[in-house]
Amino acid sequence: MGRRRIAFFVPHMGCGRKCIYCDQNAITRGAGGHVTPETVADVVSAQRSPVELCFFGGSFARIGTPRMRAFLDVVCRAPEGSAVTFSSYPGDFDGDTGLETIRVLKNYPIATIELGIPTLDPVVLKICRRDDDPAAIMRAIERIRGNGFHLGVQMMAGLPRQTAESVTRDVKTLGSMMPDDVAWHFRLYPCLVLRGTELERMYRREEYEPLSLEEGIRAGGAAILEAERVGFAVIRVGLTESESLKKSVVAGPYHPAFGELAMSEKRALSLRSENPDGPWTIERRVLSQLTGHGGRGIRRLAEMSGISEREARDRLVVTAGFPSR
Ligand code: SF4
Repeated sequence: MGRRRIAFFVPHMGCGRKCIYCDQNAITRGAGGHVTPETVADVVSAQRSPVELCFFGGSFARIGTPRMRAFLDVVCRAPEGSAVTFSSYPGDFDGDTGLETIRVLKNYPIATIELGIPTLDPVVLKICRRDDDPAAIMRAIERIRGNGFHLGVQMMAGLPRQTAESVTRDVKTLGSMMPDDVAWHFRLYPCLVLRGTELERMYRREEYEPLSLEEGIRAGGAAILEAERVGFAVIRVGLTESESLKKSVVAGPYHPAFGELAMSEKRALSLRSENPDGPWTIERRVLSQLTGHGGRGIRRLAEMSGISEREARDRLVVTAGFPSR
């Protein structure tokens, strides 16, 4: 599409009450100052080629129509071909208010609407103090899809009472709603215990046990594999590393290279599912998914196959071909 992405972080803008695990200030601190339509317009005025203005870290469709329009109007002053992407609550597109929001959005070039769908499990949603129930989420997706918008889903792994199986099941369910000719965007975040959140209090009271790093990686790898199988375009796994995030993490599957580690798990799982005992054919350009991080992928391949790492290496067939995913 040739659009340069410019991310604006709007921590908790429009969120109302916070979800128990969330602290966008910790996640996005240092990623920019206070964002207003005017500051966005300043950035846009310096652009000479199409841009994608991305509003992340809040519930964009919940900030009220006048303010939403003010932000969206800015894209009309950007170079032709520019568009807007934003993250929001699914429920913002449900009911009469949601219909009105859709009407507004149809007047603007919207690249992607990213929905925070941490899980489809109603019990987990409730514990996390999410406003939506699964039925509202499904209605929202149907409506967004029916109006021709491109969608992104932001899912999580390791929430209270959430299982790894339910994560992959949810990925499959959401994937089944995707049109055949489109790849919706997929992001997966491991649930971390961040300082000052309700989840931290639950953790301190021993009401919540976070995933270990290894559990998080395995859940992430399985989710990515399923996401690719059902046709999502996986664009992010793990939170963006930053000093403020590092300082805020109290517990949970935190690692600066979480995404790469989850990819190593996914690669091992996918090779095993294609051919349980090998040989395993892998293109050179993705070989590092097995050999990187101390050969974690090879180790998992060996462990899952009940053989030594040496044997697992011997069963690899490295090709120079064009990789599928
Ligand atoms: S998870 Fe999303 S909706 Fe919930 S508090 Fe964080 S930014 Fe707001």
